[in-house]
Amino acid sequence: QKQFQLFRVTISNITMSDAINNVINSAKTPECDSYAFVNADCMNIAHKNEQYRQILNQNKNVFADGSGLRLACKFHRIALKDNVNGTDMFPLLCQRAAEQGVGIFMLGAKPNIANKAAEKMQQRFPKLRICGSHDGYFSEQQTDEVIGKINSSGAQILLVAMGAPIQERWIAEHSEKLNVGAAIGVGGLFDFYAD
Ligand code: UDP
Repeated sequence: QKQFQLFRVTISNITMSDAINNVINSAKTPECDSYAFVNADCMNIAHKNEQYRQILNQNKNVFADGSGLRLACKFHRIALKDNVNGTDMFPLLCQRAAEQGVGIFMLGAKPNIANKAAEKMQQRFPKLRICGSHDGYFSEQQTDEVIGKINSSGAQILLVAMGAPIQERWIAEHSEKLNVGAAIGVGGLFDFYAD
């Protein structure tokens, strides 16, 4: 698969459709593959935060999100195939997941946001399996309990909406304990879809 480097972050140059295919394929495997979106803001964080940059570079795919990235690519004469952002991906991914019987767990945002966003998507795609949700404000001591909830939910895709770089670090730290095939950092996605 085609990739390019931007400020020492390895980014996948793929279409939305291929991005979704990759996530759905990962969902069906036993090991947890990590995915991230990077916008211009994330590139700034990666520039200053070496750990975040390294975590991004270990992901299965890092998706180029938004017009800032498009502009940076244009400047570097990289022909970017698509704007692969979470807001556009979420309903498309839910549709595919519903068709394929792939379950989703939604972790992150303030209390009652993830389940509200889940309800909205459930209404749109009646066959969608949202296996569970949990807010993104829990202590270190509660982490094992949250992981237990995810693992017993039967979900194959985990969406983590705690903002960059917290969500990427959380996924990297716990991916080996997670019984999901794909974990994706999705930033403020649940807030957007809860309204
Ligand atoms: N958040 C969370 N736990 C935290 C900090 C933030 O769940 O400890 C949530 C916050 O409620 C919001 C999201 O993470 O829903 C961050 O959204 P933001 O738009 O800031 O992230 P970005 O898209 O810029 O990465």
